[in-house]
Amino acid sequence: MSEPVSSLTVVRDVGSLRRRVKAWRAANRSIALVPTMGALHAGHLALVERAKVLADEVVVSIFVNPAQFGPDEDLAAYPRREAEDWALLAAADVDLLYMPDAAVMYPDQFQTEVHVTQVSQGLCGAHRPGHFDGVATIVAKLLLQALPDFAVFGEKDFQQLVVIQRLVADLDIPVDIVGLPTVREANGLALSSRNVYLSDSERTIAPVLYREISAVATDIASGSDIVARCAEAAEALLKAGFDAVEYIEARDAATLTPLVTHGVSARVLAAVTLGKARLIDNVAVP
Ligand code: AMP
Repeated sequence: MSEPVSSLTVVRDVGSLRRRVKAWRAANRSIALVPTMGALHAGHLALVERAKVLADEVVVSIFVNPAQFGPDEDLAAYPRREAEDWALLAAADVDLLYMPDAAVMYPDQFQTEVHVTQVSQGLCGAHRPGHFDGVATIVAKLLLQALPDFAVFGEKDFQQLVVIQRLVADLDIPVDIVGLPTVREANGLALSSRNVYLSDSERTIAPVLYREISAVATDIASGSDIVARCAEAAEALLKAGFDAVEYIEARDAATLTPLVTHGVSARVLAAVTLGKARLIDNVAVP
């Protein structure tokens, strides 16, 4: 069953997705997949634009994955904007939108979980138990359902990107994982579907997160003590008005192990709460 929306075709079940993919394969067309949870913004659309350059056909998936939300998290409140998302994807000339519901992704008797060990620990993994198991399981399923040549993800969710790269390497899934830089507002705030939770006054505080992690990254590059500088930044974030700092840490960009020496490729990553929003962001150490 498929519903045509301008040039965009919407499918909701695995069989329809596979039929379309099979036809593309038979015609020697390459495929790029962009997995999302919808409530699309310019960050998602940047991934779509890259996917269009990489491959002949672009599939975007929208699935708000219950398995990656904790019991006290915002699954019920997570923004859902189906009509707007369809219009954006049609305007972006996307070929196929895959919108399975939970019964398609987790049918009765579903009992398999994909668990990536080391890189899922710490950072968001420590604060959102089970989150990366939910992510790894759903991404493995989406990759096996769509069988793309490329799958495009944002560096905005840097730990997620590393988890997915590990998953694909470990399970020999034949897909190129492509990571793209974070798209930001002019004030530096990383675009996120969750930014709608921010009040006007919180919107003036939120950009401080990017400023602070950028300053930490610059200072670490010039030799500042890593742990002390991160601790100082956590204080500064609280002083700026964030409600809590879950973490602000410097990590090896490839392994996500805590950064102990200067000179390796590194990333500063942080998660904070501000009113109803949990914001994450990260930058490379220059
Ligand atoms: P989400 O819908 O939030 O699950 O995100 C879907 C994909 O879009 C993930 O690969 C995210 O990393 C990516 N993404 C989210 N926000 C941004 C952003 N501001 N810039 C670039 N990519 C993003």
